[in-house]
Amino acid sequence: MRPTAHQQAALAACLDDHRALYNAALEERREAYRRSRVSIRYGDQSAQLKAIRAGDPDHARWSFSSQQATLRRLDKAFRAFFDRVKAGRTPGFPRFKGRDWFDTVEWPKDGDGCRWDSQPEHPTTTYVRLQGVGHVRVHRHRPVRGRVKTISVKREGSRWYVILSCDDVPAEILPATGAVVGVDMGVASFLTTSDGEQVGNPRHLAAVAGELAAAQQDLARKKRGSKRRRKAVARVAALHGKVRRQRLDSAHKSALMLVADYDVIAHEALQVTNMTKRAAPKPDGAGGFMPNRAAAKSGLNKSILDAGWGVFLTILSHKAESAGRELIAVNPANTSRTCARCGHCAKENRATQAEFRCRACGHAAHADVNAAINILRAGLALREAAAA
Ligand SMILES: [Zn+2]
Repeated sequence: MRPTAHQQAALAACLDDHRALYNAALEERREAYRRSRVSIRYGDQSAQLKAIRAGDPDHARWSFSSQQATLRRLDKAFRAFFDRVKAGRTPGFPRFKGRDWFDTVEWPKDGDGCRWDSQPEHPTTTYVRLQGVGHVRVHRHRPVRGRVKTISVKREGSRWYVILSCDDVPAEILPATGAVVGVDMGVASFLTTSDGEQVGNPRHLAAVAGELAAAQQDLARKKRGSKRRRKAVARVAALHGKVRRQRLDSAHKSALMLVADYDVIAHEALQVTNMTKRAAPKPDGAGGFMPNRAAAKSGLNKSILDAGWGVFLTILSHKAESAGRELIAVNPANTSRTCARCGHCAKENRATQAEFRCRACGHAAHADVNAAINILRAGLALREAAAA
């Protein structure tokens, strides 16, 4: 979004008031739970909100629906909390949101307190109208397809974004190419295909990871509540934003390439346990962050790559579905140590990170290409088994 200074102030107030609502509703639920183990439901809080709005025009400045969406967000946090309690775990109670931990407001329905493309007669510029903020100019970086359903506003550092989710997005079935591919997700290159193509060099991500590690260390040294600390927080947030944007961009490009060229795409199934075990580094620096800069950097690199693959696979599955392509997830066990020519499986086959040399038949290949071929073969076997 390209808000005016006046609109920026209104957006900040909108975010802040929704955060205050979230925290007040959380306080009420906490108290009720602490005093009498009673849980307050979303319906109760929504009804209360209606009464509060009727009595106080200040609260009615924002859309009722976006406020309800905020209460539902809290409700979701509580549901997740109680689900974990039921599962016998000891989760942390939902937390109050500090200023840096609440960055999104959602309007659940276009036309209700918000309107996408609110000045369609304007020849060159797109606007979004938000209740209490006005018509905000939008820099539209790609066309909107389908029917706009929800509209969200997100603050990232000093930038503001509008995020749309759409219904009835038309599918664009691509013509068959007759080609199939296996995809290995690696560290040296983001992707390697069974045809030997390498996509995406995560070196630029590694560079940002270095900057991010330094910025986080810097942040950890700042005194709480100081002006320098606020600046350091903003720097860390900006770098996180940079990583996110680069990740999205390369994920879109790689997914587009695969979907355009292949009918069937086999990829490694992501091991979710690996991703959840390694908590994302907190910009706070409070959670016992790794003291060694190099270790911090490699940990960050790893988590950035992992998150990158998750984002990539999500985007790939959307594009594949829209294009009518088939996606197959394969258990990645042994795909990197098995010979794609003779099937001999041994740890020693992997001569170096980049080089594969079979101890049984002498087959030599790029290690990632060898793995991608195994992934393709496993994928096709799964497909055949499913068809039988
Ligand atoms: Zn072999």
